[in-house]
Amino acid sequence: MSVDEVIVSAEAPRHSNTGEDRALAWLTADAAIREERGVHRDPLIRRTTGSVGAAGINLASNDYLGLSTDARVVAGARDALERWGAGATASRLVVGTTELHIDFEQQLADFMGFPAALLFSSGYLANVGAITALVGRGDLIVSDSGAHASLIDGCRLSRARVVVVDRGDHEAIRTILRDRTEERALVVTDAVYSIDGRLAPIAEFYAATRDHGAALIVDEAHGLGVRGPGGRGLVAEAGLAGAPDLIVTTVCSKSLGSQGGVVLGSHVVRSHLIDRARSFIFDTGLAPAAVGGARAALAVLQGDPTLPRRLHANAARLADRCGAPEPESAVISLVVGDPHAAVAAAARCRQQGVLVGCFRPPSVPIGTSRLRLTVRADLDPATLDHVAEIVCAALESQGVR
Ligand code: PMP
Repeated sequence: MSVDEVIVSAEAPRHSNTGEDRALAWLTADAAIREERGVHRDPLIRRTTGSVGAAGINLASNDYLGLSTDARVVAGARDALERWGAGATASRLVVGTTELHIDFEQQLADFMGFPAALLFSSGYLANVGAITALVGRGDLIVSDSGAHASLIDGCRLSRARVVVVDRGDHEAIRTILRDRTEERALVVTDAVYSIDGRLAPIAEFYAATRDHGAALIVDEAHGLGVRGPGGRGLVAEAGLAGAPDLIVTTVCSKSLGSQGGVVLGSHVVRSHLIDRARSFIFDTGLAPAAVGGARAALAVLQGDPTLPRRLHANAARLADRCGAPEPESAVISLVVGDPHAAVAAAARCRQQGVLVGCFRPPSVPIGTSRLRLTVRADLDPATLDHVAEIVCAALESQGVR
């Protein structure tokens, strides 16, 4: 038998699939509806370069500090890959925990001012795991309406009663916590709202939870590396790092330029999640290369506290040139309204070499489709001014401003 024959015979038999889908026929009609509403995403935009690629200026990533392509971070990922292999090979509970995972957890906990940390394989899974491990049927969750989808999905999966309050409405949180019948209650919020980069009133949220015997989860996905002393986040900025009944979640997929999610809290919380968080227990551990990259990025951030400051200066400059209000984080949100117009404006930017985010329902409320620019610390002033010119022209082409 020739090698070719072996390869052919090793292929799985394929169904000819020439007939029409019957049970799945509704998918085609559903796609047409999404197309008409301007919320169809396929085909996905393909990136052909690294974060700082010559083919385009990337203001759509979450690579706030430009560390995903930093030589030190890439080396950290490569070293971990070579030492530990490509995958964690099993759940963290079995043999998927390396020394690297444990070291990095403690380093990040120390940096953020918490006793302990637990790594999940994504920020999404960290939020889902933390919420579902802490509350269940018969408990109460009060969720800020700006909370990220991963917090929302955690709330849904928990089977607790969920009450949603307007963004930042700490008085409503107080009222709901005070009037509750459930003994156990949890409040969940983003620190920096991911859609428009505005800040949640964390100190007020915390006071409400403490006064009414509830726990608080704050998602610092967009706060780490961006806000607080040396980029330690908004919770640290509010002086609440390590506070009792407070749990912070964050990600390695934004400022740390890598991948992975983290829950920070007490040792008791960490231990509880190891035993109870299903998205930790039944998931393969985070790939060593991702941990190595994140660890190297944390070292870069610790060694250079000016990085968040540079990021702020860049965000302020770009917002000013785009006629947007002074940003509180690295996210600049330019509302267009109509989803088709937002897509057209983003496409025009892309044709001119500038990648911007285009957020449409269900990521944002109907009628508030927008361009979302995420600034990076490693962009120079001339590049930012060039970006602003292109973005403004694209918005004007759609009759915006
Ligand atoms: N929380 C927030 C606020 C986010 O913006 C994101 C990612 N966009 C996540 C959690 C999920 O993190 P990951 O991408 O690491 O799953």
